Amino acid sequence: MKLESRVPDGPLEQKWDRYKFQLKLVNPANKRKFNVIVVGSGLSGASAAASMAELGYNVDCFCYQDSPRRAHSVAAQGGINAAKNYQNDGDSVYRLFHDTVKGGDYRSREANVYRLAQLSTNIIDQCVAQGVPFAREYGGTLANRSFGGAQVSRTFYARGQTGQQLLLGAYSALSRQIAAGKVKMHPRSEMLDLVLVDGRAVGITVRDLRTGQISGHAGDAVVLATGGYANTFFLSTNAKGCNVTAAYRAHRRGALFANPCFTQIHPTCIPVSGDYQSKLTLMSESLRNDGRIWVPTAKADSRKPGQIPDGERDYYLERRYPSFGNLVPRDVASRAAKGVCDEGRGVGPSGLGVYLDFADAIGRMGVDTIRDKYGNLFEMYEKITGEDPYRVPMRIFPALHYTMGGLWVDYNLMSNVPGLFVLGEANFSDHGANRLGASALMQGLADGYFIIPYTIGDYLSRAGTCPVDTSHAEFKGSAEEATSRIDRLLSIGGTRTPDSFHRELGRLLWDHCGMARNAQGLQQALERIPALRQEFHADLKLIGVASDLNQTLEKAGRVADFLEFAELLCRDALTRDESCGAHFREEHQTPEGEAVRNDEQYTHVSAWEFTGVGQEPTLHKEQLQFDNVSLSTRSYK
Ligand SMILES: Cc1cc2nc3c(=O)[nH]c(=O)nc-3n(C[C@H](O)[C@H](O)[C@H](O)COP(=O)(O)OP(=O)(O)OC[C@H]3O[C@@H](n4cnc5c(N)ncnc54)[C@H](O)[C@@H]3O)c2cc1C
Repeated sequence: MKLESRVPDGPLEQKWDRYKFQLKLVNPANKRKFNVIVVGSGLSGASAAASMAELGYNVDCFCYQDSPRRAHSVAAQGGINAAKNYQNDGDSVYRLFHDTVKGGDYRSREANVYRLAQLSTNIIDQCVAQGVPFAREYGGTLANRSFGGAQVSRTFYARGQTGQQLLLGAYSALSRQIAAGKVKMHPRSEMLDLVLVDGRAVGITVRDLRTGQISGHAGDAVVLATGGYANTFFLSTNAKGCNVTAAYRAHRRGALFANPCFTQIHPTCIPVSGDYQSKLTLMSESLRNDGRIWVPTAKADSRKPGQIPDGERDYYLERRYPSFGNLVPRDVASRAAKGVCDEGRGVGPSGLGVYLDFADAIGRMGVDTIRDKYGNLFEMYEKITGEDPYRVPMRIFPALHYTMGGLWVDYNLMSNVPGLFVLGEANFSDHGANRLGASALMQGLADGYFIIPYTIGDYLSRAGTCPVDTSHAEFKGSAEEATSRIDRLLSIGGTRTPDSFHRELGRLLWDHCGMARNAQGLQQALERIPALRQEFHADLKLIGVASDLNQTLEKAGRVADFLEFAELLCRDALTRDESCGAHFREEHQTPEGEAVRNDEQYTHVSAWEFTGVGQEPTLHKEQLQFDNVSLSTRSYK
């Protein structure tokens, strides 16, 4: 299989504009003849569904929550990047492009990233027009703060609720189209399969989560905007419902999965507090604008933080990376936190924690300013830990947060399966081996508001309407398969809950494919995962029936997919025998513990083809070309 990235020719700055002109259009009267299926109503899905409906296409939009407003995007806290240069501090489209390619450790496509940086400015205008209440300066102009991996302030924000406010904007646009009859919303509906006819994506198979009814839905194109797979690791900052099922089921039908081992660990999360914890909580990266990270200089120092004088504290990020200080990218900050904890200098009951301290900032700006900037985050921290971060430093530790890998897409955001488009965190596109903070919201909205509305027209005008409906044998076959999978799970009658298997899988991945990886550990994980999968299918305990609301059954289906997908994740990590970005192979590091890339052998996207459960998948490589940015060792010193 040859992977066609379809990156257009011409100078980097002109590629997208020239390409848009070359794309075929569907005339306004013909748009209403096309039906598009959008799975997902987060920022990427809601913006795509609303924009395509506004253009005149008929859209069916699916999500598993009771309302599109509850998509996981609602949880995003810190902000969204855009190269507006409102601060006059040297920002530009080129700088955002450069920071993103470098931040991703040179494992993303230049052309995609440049387009993303270009579109970033439109997103802010679009959202302001929708009424998104971005933070403003006293004089009324939009405010900015800084995020990791950048030396400019380009992050737009709405306190610590940026995702929620952006989602309300996209949801308003979506609701307008629902009321206009152009979008039919299907909440509480879980996609269980992708349907292909003659190699073209023509629909999906869905389970109604209230009644258990399985049904087929046909469309002229299918757009997946189903989010990331961080929950494969069980404990993560993602909403509990986030899962890999939609993307993985599409993968089983032929869509290539790219760079699954590029998983991001966020340095500032509330540490794990016990064995029965089911979720982790993020403390936004924005806090690193004002909070200072430190641990005691001495090992096993059990004094309270206030009793440790400044001279006996190690502000290790400021010490090791004086240029970027506390705002180094996430992969670098996470590994540094792990390093000081491994040395025995971690804080808190488990020793797996470091301090994020606001005392200096409060002294400099006053408590009211800090409350204005981060009030809801401080409140959340206090509710969870019982400690007041205005008075004592927060304790934080790295946790699974985001996934850069995803279904492989070309420049049009179409997968290798014709008619299957993938947006937002579900695709692999723009962040390489490490995403910079505040760039996921930017990418999701660029994909939904500004890219898919153009590229889908080109596809539909060439492919025409789908020649089949849901009476086609492929729809029937897919529904039968989904039903028998559910019946099989319900009939096992074993002793262990889906959560118990998921927890074990998560622990295995965290230990062997987490912040640091090595060949031996990955081999161990690859031996254990198939055995765990077998145990799952022999000893799963489920209650309830298929024809009713049954959240344990939903969970079991998702865990079954995690158990297959985890093997791909570890295989990818084993095959990529270099360190890059968040993928840190212990065999490849400098004496100071920095990642060592192998550009000669690994400057490519690894795109995996499914060949059967437990079978070795086939690796396809998309070679990455860097014409504008020179490959260099990332340095934040
Ligand atoms: C705590 C937290 C804070 C964050 N803060 C920031 C930030 O400040 N800035 C930033 O840029 N990024 C942030 N991120 C990352 C960012 O929020 C996400 O990457 C982004 O919102 C993902 O959007 P999405 O549209 O791709 O998917 P999601 O918002 O995850 O939406 C997925 C949608 O797909 C649907 N879906 C999934 N599977 C199925 C299925 N099988 N059938 C039917 N429907 C399905 C869901 O119902 C949902 O509607 C944060 C992430 C977390 C966890």
